[in-house]
Amino acid sequence: MKNLSLLFSFLLIACSGSSPIVSKLPTDNTNQEKAIETINFAKQEDVVQTLKFLTLDENLGREAGTKQMDNVAAYLEDVFKKNNVPPYFKTYKDTLSNFRWPAYNVVGYIEGNDAKLKNEFVVIGAHYDHIGQLKGDDIVNGDDIANGANDNASGTTAVTEVVKYFAKYKTNKRSIIFVFFSAEEKGLLGSKHLAKKLKEQNLNLYFMFNYEMIGVKMNREDMLLYITGFGKSNMAQKMNEYAGENLIGYIPAETQYQLFRASDNYPFYTEFEVPAQTVSTFDFENFKFYHEPDDEFELMDTKHMTNVVNKTIPVLEKMINASSKEIQLK
Ligand SMILES: [Zn+2]
Repeated sequence: MKNLSLLFSFLLIACSGSSPIVSKLPTDNTNQEKAIETINFAKQEDVVQTLKFLTLDENLGREAGTKQMDNVAAYLEDVFKKNNVPPYFKTYKDTLSNFRWPAYNVVGYIEGNDAKLKNEFVVIGAHYDHIGQLKGDDIVNGDDIANGANDNASGTTAVTEVVKYFAKYKTNKRSIIFVFFSAEEKGLLGSKHLAKKLKEQNLNLYFMFNYEMIGVKMNREDMLLYITGFGKSNMAQKMNEYAGENLIGYIPAETQYQLFRASDNYPFYTEFEVPAQTVSTFDFENFKFYHEPDDEFELMDTKHMTNVVNKTIPVLEKMINASSKEIQLK
């Protein structure tokens, strides 16, 4: 998530007396366990492996434009290659036109299997960059690397698992463009660049769906995820209908901090004027280390992350395959 520092420093003070992070494990769901037996959804061990790589100290906090990001981009490219997902453009790397240093979105594509609907597209993404190395007072106990496990190695990992699912089963009627965005932390630069480029190419975009900070469970049972721009479209309602349960909800922080404008969904909304929204489980109370060096792998609840992926995949499938564009702006 791009910088919310002014608002957030107030919140940190307000929250500093709260108890340490307690992550409740997801409740067992017999139906889902049955589904896992027959359909190969994400495995926790794969989530752990990807998250571990993205948060390595040697990536130096994944700052857009640094040479360490070449290695991270190559890893994400490999996810596409290993799963036989071709690039959407000539190469997987989509070089940003609006940033002074070399930076790339990594973009893959799975064509829809329906002769008509495949001309309509959905974009599923997450930003893989973070804020890099810190200086001065921001260094904590000698640690100057902001590993960005929650923000947003967690969302990036989720997208890798969604890629693997649709690559394996190819159940999507509409075409899917998968994007790992760069330079989100520099002001949504990767998504601004790409949304503009796709709009110029007259892409027929149905919706954009973005994962952001899903590494720690919210301390509530009435929803698994909240969505930004809840009131902008019927996406949450449709997702809950497709899920057959209350998966997605509204939290007041979403409007209070204008989170709809704080991540890579936003440029797709402004360019295309279609539903373009972010799901998250960071509610400003369940994680204290936003944009700090302590946003580390060890604090992530990978069982929760796996649950988020496995709950959203079947819903995304229904969203992508609906016979008409059921998700609409209000
Ligand atoms: Zn951020």
